[in-house]
Amino acid sequence: MHPQTYYAATAPCLSFAPLAGTGGNVEVAVLGGGFAGLATARGLQERGITSVAVLEAQSIGHGASGRNGGFVFGGYSRDAADLVSDLGLQPAREFYARSRDAVALIRSRVAAHVIDCDKVEGGALLLNWFKHSTRAERRLREQARWLAEHFGVAWDEISAAQVRRWLDTDRYGGALLERDAFHFHPLKYALGLAGVIEQAGGRVHEHSPVTAIDSRDAGGFVLRTAQGASIRAAQVVVAGGGYLDALLPALTGARLPIATYVIATEPLPERLRPIQTPAALYDNRFAFDYYRALTDHRLLWGGRISIQQREPARIAELLKADMLKVFPQLAAVRIEHAWGGLMSYARHKMPQVGRLAPGLWFAQAFGGHGVAPTTVAGEWLAEAIAGRIDLPAALQRYGLTPVFGQAGLLAAQASYSWAELRDALRERLPG
Ligand SMILES: Cc1cc2nc3c(=O)[nH]c(=O)nc-3n(C[C@H](O)[C@H](O)[C@H](O)COP(=O)(O)OP(=O)(O)OC[C@H]3O[C@@H](n4cnc5c(N)ncnc54)[C@H](O)[C@@H]3O)c2cc1C
Repeated sequence: MHPQTYYAATAPCLSFAPLAGTGGNVEVAVLGGGFAGLATARGLQERGITSVAVLEAQSIGHGASGRNGGFVFGGYSRDAADLVSDLGLQPAREFYARSRDAVALIRSRVAAHVIDCDKVEGGALLLNWFKHSTRAERRLREQARWLAEHFGVAWDEISAAQVRRWLDTDRYGGALLERDAFHFHPLKYALGLAGVIEQAGGRVHEHSPVTAIDSRDAGGFVLRTAQGASIRAAQVVVAGGGYLDALLPALTGARLPIATYVIATEPLPERLRPIQTPAALYDNRFAFDYYRALTDHRLLWGGRISIQQREPARIAELLKADMLKVFPQLAAVRIEHAWGGLMSYARHKMPQVGRLAPGLWFAQAFGGHGVAPTTVAGEWLAEAIAGRIDLPAALQRYGLTPVFGQAGLLAAQASYSWAELRDALRERLPG
């Protein structure tokens, strides 16, 4: 069953049979039917490896991939400037370029396979929350200049007056518009991609939680599911995101499952629609709001970052209060859907993509900015497996750094609370 999200309520009823029996054999088995797993499977097929099987514990897109904000944009959870200090200019430039290529690849997969996923080509608008701060306005402009100079990326500066014309609120100052971005219905895309994989001869199995990955003396692996089914595979890719359990401690011990929340309003009558731009919107705080108008005139609103998974009623209450800080005129609007989802974060905030043993690959920790990066990871892994070439050497910089379990979660929450407090102070202080 899908969680009770707006996406699940509006996606087509597509299902994929659970893995059954014990005799199957594939070239590559992929654990996880999120974007990382699906992008890898599809990337392999596009390189001639059609014998792939995706095993998903619940339903396709059950994890972060089928519940997210639907923003598809370049970059990673880690800041672009930090990439340059970590890796040097050229490798950082290549990483960033790969994320932009991934945006284009998702776009071209949607077009080539006619995946109906409510895609809106409106860009992404980064709004200045600190409208009274000249420093914050300057920082936004510097960010645009820095991206243009170092990565050759053009983000347009948008004046506060233009923002005011696009949004029925005086909450913000100016903004930056990343034109080469879009937003979509992520669950429809995930299901569409799973359908494409199946049509191309791949296997997709839902309700097939992998409980063991045994290596075989003869080479390769056997994956066993909770229902007693199994499949043999020459190579395995593990892409369980924040939902992977204790199956592989080397992976779960290197990423924190962190929650973020989303609501969707009832469809808004024309007089109450506050967004007059097709862009997806977010702001420049640490725990920023992210929102967009849906094609059926609802407002989808996401935000907050926490180690706590909350009940839908509480999520609705918290996020509606956040929404009203920006659009108080929506006070009487009903919230019809509320849900949370788990992101997986490494301490370094970059994806972890690599190999645990010969033939046993992984991709996780895409954080809150994962739609394009999961596609990058799928391409890297498909190139490595099908092309027998190494993963980019620079990925070693972002390894399986331990996160220290519960203590790590508490430390993460403390740092989030501190960052939020800092933003609240910045909002009050002039300058
Ligand atoms: C609420 C929310 C909003 C977000 N908004 C955005 C956004 O707007 N733009 C953006 O770029 N990013 C966003 N993100 C981040 C992005 O969604 C994630 O980074 C990305 O989807 C991660 O994909 P994944 O495949 O690694 O993990 P997931 O999508 O979580 O998939 C992992 C899958 O593995 C399965 N699994 C786990 N264990 C097993 C097992 N043992 N056997 C079989 N299957 C297993 C799970 O059931 C799950 O379906 C958001 C995330 C959340 C939670």
